[in-house]
Amino acid sequence: MWSIIATWSFSLQCVEKGETILKSGGRALDAAEMGVRLVESDPAVDCVGRGGYLNADGELALDAAVMCGDTLKTGAVACVRGFEHPVSIARAVMEKTKHSILVGPYAEAFARQIGFAEAPPEYMITETARRKYEEEKRRRGKPSGHDTIGCLALDDAGSLCVATSTCGSNLRLPGRVGDTPIIGSGFYVQSGVGGAAATGLGEDIMRTCCSFRAVDLMRGGMSAQEAADTVVFTAHNTLRQCGLKPDCIALIVIDARGNCAGASNHKGFVYACARPGESPRIVSVDPVIDKDEQED
Ligand code: ASP
Repeated sequence: MWSIIATWSFSLQCVEKGETILKSGGRALDAAEMGVRLVESDPAVDCVGRGGYLNADGELALDAAVMCGDTLKTGAVACVRGFEHPVSIARAVMEKTKHSILVGPYAEAFARQIGFAEAPPEYMITETARRKYEEEKRRRGKPSGHDTIGCLALDDAGSLCVATSTCGSNLRLPGRVGDTPIIGSGFYVQSGVGGAAATGLGEDIMRTCCSFRAVDLMRGGMSAQEAADTVVFTAHNTLRQCGLKPDCIALIVIDARGNCAGASNHKGFVYACARPGESPRIVSVDPVIDKDEQED
């Protein structure tokens, strides 16, 4: 039985799109990719695709990935400029090459070569994004403002797939890559077992390999909710034990039957989900970390 879940409230449109594909018998990979494409095109979403935060050089460089849980094949791109749909380039990396990740100008050349239309900076970089960049630069604050769309979809044939996309944080160092295109950290799926996708500070999520851990815990018998809670709680505490101040870490998880869950170490995390008999809705997540232990 199909099911779909995605990070943050802006992903409601992604889940609604995915639902229409899945309930008419479509494939999980199409549902996740098509849903994420909508968010990539939405200039009002400031952390994904068009209208996203700029790096320290004032460029919009995007990261995205897809993974097929039947084959464990994955495709990802990092620091791609001038294309509206990095998630589709990531899918092409998975389907048309023997590789997993292409980066920067090489990923852009690949996209051009296989016929993706280029999107000029005047289209990709909105006035709002440029204004936020100038304001942050004046404040000379630490890079701030970041989120990711991660979408996990299960189709009626039992295939689990994931698609992710982000621009990373405002004023990030050019060339910086977070967890979003990194298998095992930002995403992981295995059909028959489960899937996970992360959002939050990529450096912390990569240090703790959150997504693979969640899937492995479900393989060992945990429910989606237990796996999500355990991974976020352990990641947070591991970082603290190592002397770090954990930033935001949030995870969405789906099991092989389509049960969905979310976990976070900070307040305010929400996800969107849908399955047969349950129309697309937003679910709020209570933090797994006590209030006085949450970082500001
Ligand atoms: N994980 C993303 C990154 O570090 C950002 C986020 O999801 O908040 O690039």
